[in-house]
Amino acid sequence: MDELRLDPFTRRWVVTGKRPVMPDAHNEGGACPFCPGNERQTPPAIRESRDASGAWTARVFHDRAPLFHVEGEANRRAEGMFDRMNSIGAHEIVVETPRHGATLAQLREEQISHVLELFRDRIIDLKQDRRLRYVSIFKNQFAPGSSYRGHAHSQVLGSPVLPQLLEVELRWSREHFQKHDRCIYCDALQQELSQEERLVDQNSEFVAFCPFGSPWSYELWIVPVHHASSFENDMGAPERRKALAPFLKTCLRRVEMISPCFHLVIHTEPNLQAWKPDENWWKSVPDDYHWHIEIQPDVEGRRSFLGTEGFHFNPIPAEQAALILRALEPDDLAPSQS
Ligand SMILES: [Zn+2]
Ligand SMILES: [Zn+2]
Ligand SMILES: [Zn+2]
Repeated sequence: MDELRLDPFTRRWVVTGKRPVMPDAHNEGGACPFCPGNERQTPPAIRESRDASGAWTARVFHDRAPLFHVEGEANRRAEGMFDRMNSIGAHEIVVETPRHGATLAQLREEQISHVLELFRDRIIDLKQDRRLRYVSIFKNQFAPGSSYRGHAHSQVLGSPVLPQLLEVELRWSREHFQKHDRCIYCDALQQELSQEERLVDQNSEFVAFCPFGSPWSYELWIVPVHHASSFENDMGAPERRKALAPFLKTCLRRVEMISPCFHLVIHTEPNLQAWKPDENWWKSVPDDYHWHIEIQPDVEGRRSFLGTEGFHFNPIPAEQAALILRALEPDDLAPSQS
């Protein structure tokens, strides 16, 4: 049985153990299981959105080789100074369109809005499970190809522990709030809006900028203008999803002109209803955290660590990356597909 182990030196959780092999993992040229007609190759849908004719336009199902399993208890246990627990949780796939080869950026705004609604739905649904402390939504976009990797999709991970990077962000945002009585992301937004040199796009609801200390070349963040710690609560109103969809689309189209491959992740607040080690566990999160989307283009040869100690080498400063991303004309790209 695979399990979660805590590396006590870095406080980083690792899923340890064997992951089942997906039936088509070595069959790159085979039929894509995410395409319409091949639904039987995937587990049954947990959620679907459908068009007027009844055909699905986006669907969610359990991953066929999940990293986390729904059944059982976390069963946290110590072994001397070490900690381990069962890898309970959820691992789901969101197929974002029936059209093979169309990227999220190429979908119609209305379809992107449906995908955002599914993201929100999955976070809210999984956060009902008090065993789960965090729900990650992320996407690894690969270059279009015949395998499922070329079919627009995202992954959902509901985990009984906080991912290390989230914990780091939450800690430093709390520290900033305790010192200044202000949200660190709201402060950063004000500075980016006044300096302008790292801005890529903005409207009255969202701002996109290249973060000052970007570890990845052309890294782009989308941050809501008004303070909100929870993506899923903020995206509750259809107007908010309708506002984010075209903004996200334009940002992704710019990024795709730099690289067709990228990593996208939504950072939102942890599950505040989850089992807590103490009464004050991340109590101030609604004040001091601010949800955002991080997009990290996979620019060949540029996405490199300096060794394995966490130093990054980014040859393109954020100001230069923003200048290049701003100058791109996303409207020149191929028209939207359903
Ligand atoms: Zn496909
Ligand atoms: Zn804020
Ligand atoms: Zn973040």
